[in-house]
Amino acid sequence: MNKLRIAIQKSGRLSDKSKALLKECGINIPDSKKTLKVKAVNFPLEVLMLRDDDIPQYVQDGIADLGILGENEVVEKNKDIRIARALGFSKCRLCLAIPKKDIPTYDIEGIKWFDGKEVATSYPNVLKECLKEKGVQVKIHEIGGSVEIAPTIGLADGIFDIVSTGATLLNNGLEEVETLMKSQAVLIANKDLDTDKQQILDDLLFRIDAVLNAKNRKYVMLNAPKNKLEEVIAILPKVKSPTIMNLRDDNWVAIHAVMTEDEFWEVVRPLEKIGATGILSVPIEKIIPRIA
Ligand code: ATP
Ligand code: MG
Repeated sequence: MNKLRIAIQKSGRLSDKSKALLKECGINIPDSKKTLKVKAVNFPLEVLMLRDDDIPQYVQDGIADLGILGENEVVEKNKDIRIARALGFSKCRLCLAIPKKDIPTYDIEGIKWFDGKEVATSYPNVLKECLKEKGVQVKIHEIGGSVEIAPTIGLADGIFDIVSTGATLLNNGLEEVETLMKSQAVLIANKDLDTDKQQILDDLLFRIDAVLNAKNRKYVMLNAPKNKLEEVIAILPKVKSPTIMNLRDDNWVAIHAVMTEDEFWEVVRPLEKIGATGILSVPIEKIIPRIA
């Protein structure tokens, strides 16, 4: 039987989350520390553990049909592949940063400060693309890691790198001045999948969508006096028709609704105020998207 091959990061920030997503999709992958190729038990999928840098090439060449990696790496490698889904995890931004002492001049000149300057980065292509749009030209020093050290050791005037908390920048006397790209993990696919493989990909995407849809939503249950029902419904986020159930006590009803975490915190106090009780929220595993 035909199988899809998916390449995920062997070890690094994306590996656990990539495996977790497949697991949430109900795909069982035997745990293996040593083998770099494992077959899923209950889905026609084979998983290759690779360095994330190599994944775009493998997917372009059809060695793997799919891959999970950061959008930043996809843009950097610029291979002939397609992005099948944004996966919503490993969100980060790629920023320009400069030594603190240069901030006053930067504040006056803005991004033009970089014109003719030297910038150290592991993402030369992303940097080139982003600066082209802004009409700024820099000399790029490509380095594999520890980019933050470059200005201190006299290798470059500034850096372009992934920033999460900014703590590493701070420790190296640098300050972030521009975000040039926002990134998250994406599922990439080979452009010429045959019909069988495309069918398996469609099944996988159906599962991924159900998981992603559920991620930020809660199943909320509450009890309210029957005579407050309309008020409760007015407070709840708009749904076509909330679930209402009778309780043993004729004067009370139970109401169930699905909402985001933010919506939950917005409605919980107003609901309490009008007399709702037993308000609780539980996580949802999957939501099958409604077909438009
Ligand atoms: P190497 O290839 O040397 O193992 P890498 O930078 O490619 O290093 P990771 O550090 O594991 O590998 O990062 C993988 C991806 O995770 C990055 O390409 C980026 O998309 C994302 N990422 C990196 N740093 C962060 C962060 N601090 N927060 C969230 N996502 C991040
Ligand atoms: Mg890498």
